[in-house]
Amino acid sequence: MKPVSFDYSVPENSLAVVEHLKNAQGTAKIVAGNQSLGPMLNLRLVRTNALIDVGLLAEVRKCVVNQDNVFIGAGITHAEIEDGDVQDPTNGWMREAAGNIAYRAVRSRGTIGGSLCHADPAADWLIVLTGLKAFAIVQGLSSNRKLPVENFITGPFTNDLKEDEILMGVEVPKPSATAKWGYWKFMRQVGEFAKASAVIYHDEHKQITRCAIGALGRQPLLLHNPEKIFDGTLTPANAIKESLPDRDFAEMTMHVTAIERALSIARNRSEPGK
Ligand SMILES: Cc1cc2nc3c(=O)[nH]c(=O)nc-3n(C[C@H](O)[C@H](O)[C@H](O)COP(=O)(O)OP(=O)(O)OC[C@H]3O[C@@H](n4cnc5c(N)ncnc54)[C@H](O)[C@@H]3O)c2cc1C
Repeated sequence: MKPVSFDYSVPENSLAVVEHLKNAQGTAKIVAGNQSLGPMLNLRLVRTNALIDVGLLAEVRKCVVNQDNVFIGAGITHAEIEDGDVQDPTNGWMREAAGNIAYRAVRSRGTIGGSLCHADPAADWLIVLTGLKAFAIVQGLSSNRKLPVENFITGPFTNDLKEDEILMGVEVPKPSATAKWGYWKFMRQVGEFAKASAVIYHDEHKQITRCAIGALGRQPLLLHNPEKIFDGTLTPANAIKESLPDRDFAEMTMHVTAIERALSIARNRSEPGK
């Protein structure tokens, strides 16, 4: 099947993008790497009158290193993060996650912003950026917004963007030198979406501990009492029961093991990038 016909434009800046979106009143769609949108257009699961291509827009293709964080433009590809072409604020954790997304052809086109906006519950950046306490940077016609990634993703395949807003990028805080991190995802085979995933992030210096599970059919879930999970006083199984009391626990065994493996990775790593 082929998509319905649509107009195609390549605006010069983000202001032109949001103006176009505003005028289209919901009938236009942004496209970046086209790895998720393309198949949906072809299958006519999505129909649009106009595609606005932001793949080469300088404002979303940039990376800015600040004192406490790094801004990574929405148009940066998974492969550019994997290859270290842009600064990895986590000194290796994000590079590793990027390298395990799909296969190289998808990574060469797919973008970090496209992944967040598409909001597939099993996607890697959703859980990784939630675990890292990153922020989504959003631009509208008259104002900008900065919101935690966990608030940007509002449900399966759903985000918080208004009709006339664009995701400009993500702001990822730099972890302390002694912070610990573990990420694990179960896939049937390399290059597939996760069946279950978990992250643990412990930054004693900044007093941050986060534990999230993903591939739940909804947005990643930040578990209660992450400090107790990290120090071992709350088992992953009990943590999941506590945070997801309504789920059938028999369905959660892969998530329990994903947390155990993420914990094991984190405890055996002494510093970012190791
Ligand atoms: C075979 C295959 C395997 C895959 N495996 C994995 C995997 O293992 N893990 C994983 O995480 N992902 C996987 N993906 C998804 C991949 O990571 C995509 O690149 C990603 O989901 C979408 O990025 P994109 O740049 O291609 O976005 P597009 O397809 O261009 O757009 C996706 C959606 O985001 C919107 N959008 C894009 N950019 C912006 C922006 N800046 N502002 C507002 N809206 C925007 C679009 O309007 C659209 O709704 C896989 C994809 C394929 C085809």
